[in-house]
Amino acid sequence: MGYESSVPLFWRLIKPRYQLIGNKCTTCGNTFYPPKFLCPICRKEGKLEEIKLGKTGKILTFSIVRSAPTGFEKETPYPVAIIELDDGPRLTSQIVDWKEEDLQIGRKVEACFRRIYTDGKEGIINYGLKFRPI
Ligand SMILES: [Zn+2]
Repeated sequence: MGYESSVPLFWRLIKPRYQLIGNKCTTCGNTFYPPKFLCPICRKEGKLEEIKLGKTGKILTFSIVRSAPTGFEKETPYPVAIIELDDGPRLTSQIVDWKEEDLQIGRKVEACFRRIYTDGKEGIINYGLKFRPI
C-alpha cells in the first residue's frame, strides 16, 4: 500500500506520537519516552502515569549516517543524534534543517514533525518525529 492512499490513517497514528507522550514513575520520579509498561527501576512498586513531554532538548552525541537503510538512500548523509529532552528521557532521532555548525554536543534542539516512511524498519525514523536546531 502506497503512502498517498493511507494519509488519513497516517495522521491518526502520528498525532499522539508527535505530541511526545511519555510517562513518569511517581515512585522514583523518572520519565520515559517512549512510554514504558513497567518502571525499570521500581518494577512492580512503580506507578506510571502518562505525561506530555516538552519538545525541547539537547544533543548528547551524534553520528552521520552515510549508508541508509532501504528507503532512505536519497537522504544520506544525515545526522542521527541521541537527544536528552529537558524533561529527562533520552531518545534517538534524525536531525533535520541542520548546518555544519549545529552538529555539536549540547546544541539545543526541538521536536518537529516530518515525513515518515511506512516501510522504515530500522527504528530510528519511524516515529515521524525528528529534531531541528533552535
Ligand atoms: Zn520508578
